[in-house]
Amino acid sequence: MITHRDCLAKYGAPELEKSMTLWDVPAELEIGVIPKKIYCNRDLVSPLRDAFTNVITRNLINELKTWDGCFNLRKKRGASTASIHSWGVAIDVNAAWNGFGKQPTMSSALVDCFKDAGFDWGGEWGKQDGMHFQLASLG
Ligand SMILES: [Zn+2]
Repeated sequence: MITHRDCLAKYGAPELEKSMTLWDVPAELEIGVIPKKIYCNRDLVSPLRDAFTNVITRNLINELKTWDGCFNLRKKRGASTASIHSWGVAIDVNAAWNGFGKQPTMSSALVDCFKDAGFDWGGEWGKQDGMHFQLASLG
């Protein structure tokens, strides 16, 4: 699992936003709640494109109910270190039904769309964060 230290080593201080890009999501992926543009780390673009493609080709677009963000300069919940969101390598979806510290309601089929594309899922952590997916590695 990647940590804020890994991100700091690879991308520098999050406030510098050195590795961020505004990804213009391809039209064929602009289905359901998938945004038209996403401000994210450039390393997130390819895995996220794969994950969205999985959601669409596996007919799960109706299960993707809300897009709840990617880049967010903030501290990790309940900690003093920076959230992985500060480097734009994590996303949140379906937040209203998958709150931090609560039992996730996301289907394993939807989770697999992201895991198969190279994401770790927060719903499998000790402190469950079911809305949260982050890059499994920084390559
Ligand atoms: Zn998150």
